[in-house]
Amino acid sequence: MSKIVGIDLGTTNSCISIIENNDPIVIVNGEGQRTTPSMVAFTSKGERHVGVHAKRQAAINPERTIFSIKRLIGRRANDDDVVELAKHLPYHVVPSATGDAWVQIDNTSYSPQEISAMIVSKLKECAESYCSEAITQCVIAVPAYFNDAQRQATRDACQLAGLEVQRIVNEPTLAALAFGLAKRTTGYVAVFDLGGGTFDVSILQCNSGAFRVLATAGNNHLGGNDFDNLIQNTLIQTFKDETGIDITHDKMALQRVREAAESLKCELSTLTETSVNLPFLAIGPAGPVHLALDITRTQLEDLIRPLVEKLAPPCQDALTEAGLTTEDLDEVLLVGGMTRMPCIRAFVENFFGEKASHGVNPDEAVALGAAVQSGILAGDIEEVVLLDVTPLNLGVETAGDKVSTIIERNTSIPTKASKIFTTTEDNQSIVRIAIVQGDSKKASECANLGTFILSDIPKMPAGKPRIEVEFCIDADGVVSVQGIERQTGTVKTLVLQGTVGLSGKQLEEAKKRI
Ligand code: AMP
Repeated sequence: MSKIVGIDLGTTNSCISIIENNDPIVIVNGEGQRTTPSMVAFTSKGERHVGVHAKRQAAINPERTIFSIKRLIGRRANDDDVVELAKHLPYHVVPSATGDAWVQIDNTSYSPQEISAMIVSKLKECAESYCSEAITQCVIAVPAYFNDAQRQATRDACQLAGLEVQRIVNEPTLAALAFGLAKRTTGYVAVFDLGGGTFDVSILQCNSGAFRVLATAGNNHLGGNDFDNLIQNTLIQTFKDETGIDITHDKMALQRVREAAESLKCELSTLTETSVNLPFLAIGPAGPVHLALDITRTQLEDLIRPLVEKLAPPCQDALTEAGLTTEDLDEVLLVGGMTRMPCIRAFVENFFGEKASHGVNPDEAVALGAAVQSGILAGDIEEVVLLDVTPLNLGVETAGDKVSTIIERNTSIPTKASKIFTTTEDNQSIVRIAIVQGDSKKASECANLGTFILSDIPKMPAGKPRIEVEFCIDADGVVSVQGIERQTGTVKTLVLQGTVGLSGKQLEEAKKRI
């Protein structure tokens, strides 16, 4: 059987690992690095660069360099956060024919699945070169907070790259595996995962080789990128105040400032003071103008405080849902590159007490955990009983923009639940059910997974048909729905309309371009 690789397809960086001699190892890429920037660039000459090479040319080719694609995958172009995000991106976000968020480079539009597949292909090539064999299967990590559409789109990305997904697992759960939590006898652990694009907190219970996710909470729109945007905006404003020049419409200058913002953030994790030097950032009336300034860690921490404050509510929510307090926790695992920042570590210690563990490199923990999971699936590693939960409420839209919840968030998966629907008019032959997933009580604020159409309902007076609809969430967190008309016992064909994602034809077309 071919090896199963573990993949962390991150917002900023991606990482691939395998099991070797019963232990997970990270596979180094062709450039000798353990993580690969999640970036794809297209040049004006029609060449394509992925990873480090894409990152290196970003400043001179900003409109054709795609980053943060994970924030668009499985999303609609008109979602409020997508509209807001697109304002900060140098490349164009466009709606697909069905309204999904795609990106446009010159005259070609690409789905986020396709761009992600290009990154996965690069990781796959590294693994094939390391293992000297074809790799066809993977375990893929997703943020715990990913909804059904985002999970399915991530699976499509792997499939486009020629990888069959054996399991989709939540990132914090995998991180816990990497930290060797399975070997722990008993206790409660929090996984605090702040990466490039998302923030997740999960509370786990360990019990002699089995572990159960008790609760998970987070913010799908809070990550390193948001910190970078804030720093970038401050640098742009400082430059404007000092020179009177507004560079917000100069994409090349913006990309240089964005890179400088991320660099200064990372440098101030180890240094207490650093400087930003961007020569020839713009041309003023008297010639070239430069951005040069010194910044201290304290100044950075003052600037980002509003974002750090947003970390507390999800931590509290996760604890409350798990029915625990910080005193009950034995350990807090730090995951995600952003947990290298001293002020993030200070936040964790303030909130949870002095229990933070950083035994595993935070950028690699998720991929290493994915390899452990693949080792379990392949039978190379002793079975760990892993009980995960669904992070979002799954329900149906009802009158007045309300949600009738069918499966509550933090229910262990796999799970299923049924609900009986009926008709409101005599001889009604069709019922439409809008399936939504999210935290909000308002349907319009949840992700719309699509509309199921129950057709061919036998002719009966209003309210008489009893249509039982069964909602399933499998171990990957993926949703499926099936309906039965109870009076006649027929299984109805459910047609899903308006879902986010690629059709079979679009997948075939995309495959040819990877
Ligand atoms: P991840 O998604 O885990 O790869 O995390 C990526 C995020 O971590 C990006 O926003 C990086 O800028 C950030 N990051 C990586 N290293 C550091 C560091 N030393 N200090 C602060 N942030 C970092």
